[in-house]
Amino acid sequence: MSRVLLTGGAGFIGSHVAERLIREGVEVCVVDSFDDFYDPQIKRDNIASAASHAGYELVEGDIRDEALLQRLLSGQGGAVDAVIHLAARAGVRPSLEQPALYMDVNIRGTMNVLEAARRANVPRVVMASSSSVYGNHREVPFRENAHLSRPISPYASTKLACEHMSYTYHHLYGLEVVNLRFFTVYGPRQRPEMAIHRFVDRIHRGEEITVFGRGTMRDYTYVDDIVDGVMASLCAPAGYEIYNLGNCRMVELEDLIETIEDAVGRPARISRMPQQPGDVNRTCADLEKSRRDLGYDPKVSIEEGVRRTVEWYRARHLIPASVG
Ligand code: NAD
Repeated sequence: MSRVLLTGGAGFIGSHVAERLIREGVEVCVVDSFDDFYDPQIKRDNIASAASHAGYELVEGDIRDEALLQRLLSGQGGAVDAVIHLAARAGVRPSLEQPALYMDVNIRGTMNVLEAARRANVPRVVMASSSSVYGNHREVPFRENAHLSRPISPYASTKLACEHMSYTYHHLYGLEVVNLRFFTVYGPRQRPEMAIHRFVDRIHRGEEITVFGRGTMRDYTYVDDIVDGVMASLCAPAGYEIYNLGNCRMVELEDLIETIEDAVGRPARISRMPQQPGDVNRTCADLEKSRRDLGYDPKVSIEEGVRRTVEWYRARHLIPASVG
């Protein structure tokens, strides 16, 4: 693997993937629109260290721009060995407010990526799917071969549609496709609207946290483990495959909050709200297939991951470690 096109490479997960690629000697061309889902300056900060590296190229652009993708994949700057496609409108709740935008960016954008990849004979596309495609699937842990046809949010629908469309490209054109179903990813640079980041921030400020629903259980995955899975999927044998990348441990929301309180050293003030439409009750990844084929082996416990996230937050906001 010598050169990769990475969409969404300025975002939370993408910026970590870019750094790992560079560290492993792979040239990376990042395409990112710096959209306003959250403050674009955060994304500029995310890429600051990688962008100074010789093997890093940044293209500010939109995956809905077909011509741009075709230009980037048609050999300008060197042949591309794989596309890692992470660019998307992420987030379940906001997708209920702007379903058309989610459909446009996620589905049309992904189709452009697949189409440009097959025209340029790029052998492989690795795509970010999501645990949300399982909806309220009954059997846990979730297995990749579960029959899924009931996504419960526009966001989840777009991710399932992208999995289907990528299968079509595999079937028609022999494109190798790996869909990675990420299970709630957290760690340094996590998107600011996501629960762990929001809770860490508000508890530090002594502000109330809003908790939606009771007893929800989620599988939280530390970002470095996700990056391991992404890197492994660049090389694993593949025709068309789907893999769960999770931690295989369900954490109850109440326990998550306690873990964050312990790491921050302050109690949370909690305001309770009903569960939100579109939210799933529980997620848990079955990892048998990703362990077997990718050698995926998540290493960071929720306690350790939250501790590292709090450490990152404090460094970023110049809060001394002793302040609890
Ligand atoms: P993020 O919002 O931090 O990153 C997405 C990046 O894509 C951003 O930098 C954004 O500017 C870029 N982008 C958005 N629209 C674009 C467009 N039209 N053209 C080019 N770039 C565009 O989100 P993230 O948490 O890093 O998520 C990365 C991927 O992983 C997404 O596909 C998301 O759906 C998926 N995912 C994330 C999680 C999670 O817990 N974070 C869970 C499941 C799946």
